[in-house]
Amino acid sequence: MGGFPSIKQLFLLLFKQFFPPACPLCSHTFPSGYTDVFCPSCQSGFKPLPEASCSLCSLPFAGKSNSSHLCGRCIKQLPAYRQVYAVGLYEQSLRHAIHQFKYNNKIGLDRSLGILLEQTVVSHLNIDLVVPVPLHRKRLQQRSYNQALLLAREFARIRNLPVARDLLLKVCETESQQGLSAKERVKNLLGVFKLQGVVSARTILLVDDVMTTGATVEACSQVLLAGGAEAVYIAVIGRAI
Ligand SMILES: [Zn+2]
Ligand SMILES: [Zn+2]
Repeated sequence: MGGFPSIKQLFLLLFKQFFPPACPLCSHTFPSGYTDVFCPSCQSGFKPLPEASCSLCSLPFAGKSNSSHLCGRCIKQLPAYRQVYAVGLYEQSLRHAIHQFKYNNKIGLDRSLGILLEQTVVSHLNIDLVVPVPLHRKRLQQRSYNQALLLAREFARIRNLPVARDLLLKVCETESQQGLSAKERVKNLLGVFKLQGVVSARTILLVDDVMTTGATVEACSQVLLAGGAEAVYIAVIGRAI
């Protein structure tokens, strides 16, 4: 309707005048009318997954190849989960954003990264429940928040889905997985995650910030499926190679 703006509209206009929308990562003011989540400069540093990547675990292939085949690791041992959705490669701006979010207390990035995650997971996927990859109690005390839970909450808020924050429990602290082979990583995670609750016949979206070999999401998926889940899909922000 035309006519005079409402008090709320006036307030919003004034608010925008004094606090113009800015990039949540670098704080640069957005150009007027800009609608993307991050500023053009940060956005240009986000590297999407190449067309040529594994259709199950999203591992990018070196060079150009047919996009619809599986990587060597998935052929050797099919993952327990159905598919991985990743916002982009764990490089440049996306890596920086995840670091700021995870280690530098920039918790407010959950909203922007959550929006990107939601845009990445196909809308026709029938998800019943969103589950974050858990942190061990000790790590949670150090960091004070679980970054995967914040992302899961944002995703679930946009899609209007329930989040099961304590469905999975990390019962032992694992040493850094760096330097271990994929096989060693899976072995290292045996018995580390426990299910506390019922998941019968539910399709689950398991959320984490970064996926490297996929050993963590694989271990969580196995526990969820053993507990009766119908299917597990994975959603991550960064796909590391
Ligand atoms: Zn920026
Ligand atoms: Zn694969």
